[in-house]
Amino acid sequence: MRKKDLALAVIDRLKNEYPATTCTLDYDDAWKLLVSVRLAAQCTDARVNEIVPNLYEKYPGINELADADVEDIESIVKPCGLGRSKARDISACMKMLRDTYNCQVPDSMEELLKLPGVGRKSANLIMGDIYKKPAIVTDTHCIRLSNRIGLVDNIKEPKKVEMALLKIIPPEESNDLCHRFVDHGRAVCTARTTPYCDRCVLNDICRKNI
Ligand code: SF4
Repeated sequence: MRKKDLALAVIDRLKNEYPATTCTLDYDDAWKLLVSVRLAAQCTDARVNEIVPNLYEKYPGINELADADVEDIESIVKPCGLGRSKARDISACMKMLRDTYNCQVPDSMEELLKLPGVGRKSANLIMGDIYKKPAIVTDTHCIRLSNRIGLVDNIKEPKKVEMALLKIIPPEESNDLCHRFVDHGRAVCTARTTPYCDRCVLNDICRKNI
């Protein structure tokens, strides 16, 4: 099967399996997704969701968070790990949002990447989830599943995986497919155990590069 056809089949089956997929980070404003995605580095989404209400109770907006002491942000976000660097990035990011972007989260890759602590993965998440633009979020699930299934061939570098997937995935499907990779990666094509191929909806088309 050509990679493009394989991608279409994977999209179709995962859509059936996980019809109501969505980002597992809680947020009700674009800037909060920026904060959460920074906190999610080397931390679970569930833990981030537990911690951010404490942060927003004290600092409910971009202005408040931009003015906050970095040490105080650090003391709140510490349970997410890497507290110092995450607090520093969040503080600098909120300052830039306030001072350069008029408190609006930008909608282009170029501008998003200028924000402290924002890499391609985070920028793609914002573009896809907030602005509904085509976006490939190459997190650990996306990279693992794309390789196992055979959508890419032994590519581990996130940007290279993103570029390879962009060539074979219809743009309008890209964002949701990445969320479904997370769903499937957690439930079936797991990282820490042998994947459950016997109960996988992709069993007959997956190349099983495990
Ligand atoms: S068949 Fe196995 S390796 Fe392939 S996606 Fe399913 S669980 Fe993962």
